[in-house]
Amino acid sequence: MSDLRELYQEVIFDHNRSPRNFHPLADADRSADGHNPLCGDQLTVYLRIDGDRVADASFVGHGCAISTASASLMTEAVKGRSLAEVEALFQAFHTMLTDAAPAPDPHDLGKLEVFSGVREFPARVKCATLAWHTLRNALAGIRGTAQTE
Ligand code: ZN
Repeated sequence: MSDLRELYQEVIFDHNRSPRNFHPLADADRSADGHNPLCGDQLTVYLRIDGDRVADASFVGHGCAISTASASLMTEAVKGRSLAEVEALFQAFHTMLTDAAPAPDPHDLGKLEVFSGVREFPARVKCATLAWHTLRNALAGIRGTAQTE
């Protein structure tokens, strides 16, 4: 288990050091800002939607390692997915981080499982979910800033 934990931390460090899809999206048709005042995390998520699919996703911003790595892994995870799949992924991710008694392996979260340890640190859960709340606001076309509070 500790080996797994180390591997998870390495993935988070790596995505924080060199975040993927870390740029504004010139042809984005949706975007939203997110802010986690507890930690100071701030980001903007950009999406290009093609029919009912996320054709492209990117983000910019600054924050702690968990918020940056989460946004990086999220943009990778949602690219090419249908909107229904993205919503299911959000629900599974949220459940993994907040459910008191999650099923052992209830969802196919793939790389997003690296954040499973964050549930032990309730203050950091908001860092990990900020990008996702912001993504949902972008999808819903809600203007303004997603707050984790
Ligand atoms: Zn944070």
